[in-house]
Amino acid sequence: MTNESGTRGRPFKVVGLPGDGIGPEVYSAARRVLDVLGESRDLHIELDEQLIGGAAVDATGSPLPQQTIDACRAADAALLGAVGGPKWDGRPAEQRPELGLLRIRAEFGLFCNLRPIVTHPALHAFSPLRPERLRGVDLMIVRELTGGSYFGKKWRDDDQAEDVCRYTRPEVERVTRAAGRIARQRNRRITLVDKANVLETSRLWRAVAHRVIRDEFPDVTMENMYVDAASMHLLTRPADFDVLLTENLFGDILSDEASMLCGSMGLLPSASLNEERFGLYEPVHGSAPDIAGKGVANPYAMLLSVAMMLRHSLNRPGEAEALEQCIHACWADGLLTRDLLPDGLGTEDVTEAVCARLANAMALSA
Ligand code: NAD
Repeated sequence: MTNESGTRGRPFKVVGLPGDGIGPEVYSAARRVLDVLGESRDLHIELDEQLIGGAAVDATGSPLPQQTIDACRAADAALLGAVGGPKWDGRPAEQRPELGLLRIRAEFGLFCNLRPIVTHPALHAFSPLRPERLRGVDLMIVRELTGGSYFGKKWRDDDQAEDVCRYTRPEVERVTRAAGRIARQRNRRITLVDKANVLETSRLWRAVAHRVIRDEFPDVTMENMYVDAASMHLLTRPADFDVLLTENLFGDILSDEASMLCGSMGLLPSASLNEERFGLYEPVHGSAPDIAGKGVANPYAMLLSVAMMLRHSLNRPGEAEALEQCIHACWADGLLTRDLLPDGLGTEDVTEAVCARLANAMALSA
């Protein structure tokens, strides 16, 4: 894709993957927002809706049909709602909806997982931390997603078990470069989180990551922090972090810990990128079968995922920022769903409120 992509001459291609449970409900909110952007800006996005997860199992027998893979191969990005639910819990491993997600990550080499953690004064009351700890928190967790002990050799007998944690220099280099690029869009500070006092893989990470930053990103600084210290500092001084770079297992744990700073699962977006800037954008939450079909799902995580897609795969930072600002304005106005407020709004009301602000913002800046 060239810089001209997305203008009237050559549309961006985005694969829409509504999925299961509340997935289709929050995905509809994303579609509405993209319509508003398309109507008011020279931003043309072609949405190609495809099957994944339980919906794909029901229709085709596979959680990731070949047609979905082919559509993603021709696209700039994919937007996923959520997959899974009790309906498919008894299925054989090959037909588990979550396998669709794992396969798409593997198929497209999505090695770089991004989880922004941003707190907002209107939401401080929903976090278990004290408001003074939450002020000014705006950090990005960059997690390596395709290596380490989750993917190393594994075995077990009755008395012993082993999960091999292996990283190669190129794996560390590419995720460090991704973190460097992200840091340049932010405050240019990376904290490399590891356990280099104990683990050889961490010592390799330190040597390689520092070399990449020194040679290729001299305007970015990198400090080291042990993972045990990082887990404490995320709770005691979260506002001090800018970009936190770490390996797969540490990133899995720290990103869930950090998500608690925000107050609800329904507020957290994520992105998983490959080297060609193709990304899978999705809320952090699952398919929430307990509230599916009730029209009460919180769409903010999905809408923030759209903003990430605009910024990281479609190279439209202006529209990304406008959308984020409209979402923050809605928070400031108390427009929240029932996971946060007992008498909160429904999914569609929140979506319309965001869309109305976005249409206004686009008209004003045209
Ligand atoms: P979940 O995230 O679906 O739900 C956990 C709790 O948070 C529930 O009470 C739910 O109602 C609430 N919740 C989640 N998202 C919400 C939203 N947007 N608005 C309001 N409330 C929200 O996690 P779970 O219950 O452990 O898993 C349910 C299913 O989702 C399982 O099948 C699981 O495998 C799957 N799952 C999918 C993904 C994914 O698609 N990326 C991620 C996690 C879990």
